[in-house]
Amino acid sequence: MIGQSVALTGGPRAKSRAIESGEPVVQLHDVIHIYREADVETVALRGLDLTIAAGEFVAIMGRSGSGKSTLLNLLAGSDRPTAGRVIVAGLDLARADEAERSRLRGRRIGIVYQSQNLIPMLSVAENMALAASLAGRPMQRPDIDKRLGTLGLASRGDHRPDQLSGGEQQRAALACVLAADPPILLADEITGELDSVTAGEVLDAVAAIHREAGTTIVLVTHDPAVAARADRIVTLRDGKVVSNGPPP
Ligand code: ADP
Repeated sequence: MIGQSVALTGGPRAKSRAIESGEPVVQLHDVIHIYREADVETVALRGLDLTIAAGEFVAIMGRSGSGKSTLLNLLAGSDRPTAGRVIVAGLDLARADEAERSRLRGRRIGIVYQSQNLIPMLSVAENMALAASLAGRPMQRPDIDKRLGTLGLASRGDHRPDQLSGGEQQRAALACVLAADPPILLADEITGELDSVTAGEVLDAVAAIHREAGTTIVLVTHDPAVAARADRIVTLRDGKVVSNGPPP
């Protein structure tokens, strides 16, 4: 991985803006996030510091309510910190305007959730082709098939989502998110509803993308077995990082 670069603005066309593997791609400094609803304030993050290097695979753990989703929303640029700095791919998200944050979401960050967002009447390959075109990077069928092969879906390109198992659907959703070739992938409890064998297949697919494309991966999970697949586990409690290191 050393020397491999992770393009942040659009694949090979944007090599000049690439961040070298190993350089920080996510930096959070003393981040505070407070939700305000009517008179009620909830402090979700209280002085969180975290750095993630390009090409790292990091698992975020912590009990329900510890701030994991809030952290992911800040990284995705869908929310701004109440205080502190959140820098993703060189963009200071507390200062960026909506257009800049939306560009970050569209071009540099892929987000995959527990529930998939495949279009039911299109085949897996058509779903991917659509996602790729919407991201402005049309993919031809041979490239689609190659990517499906990496994700263990080589023979599934012509199937519709309802013809796939739960794990295959999750991997197909991953394939669509990855069709935009995002340098950073945010994954929120993507194995939460899967049995352990199927979850293992989805994680193999994530690990393959990490290995082959050098994608930076931030994966939120409750499950220590899932987190153990990452290079590093960051554990949150009450909105702060309480442990940060390689899996045991
Ligand atoms: P986790 O993902 O670890 O379960 P969250 O980031 O969802 O944690 O939540 C952290 C804290 O912020 C919790 O106390 C939660 O109730 C609160 N919270 C999360 N989202 C909102 C919201 N939209 N409005 C008010 N409070 C929220």
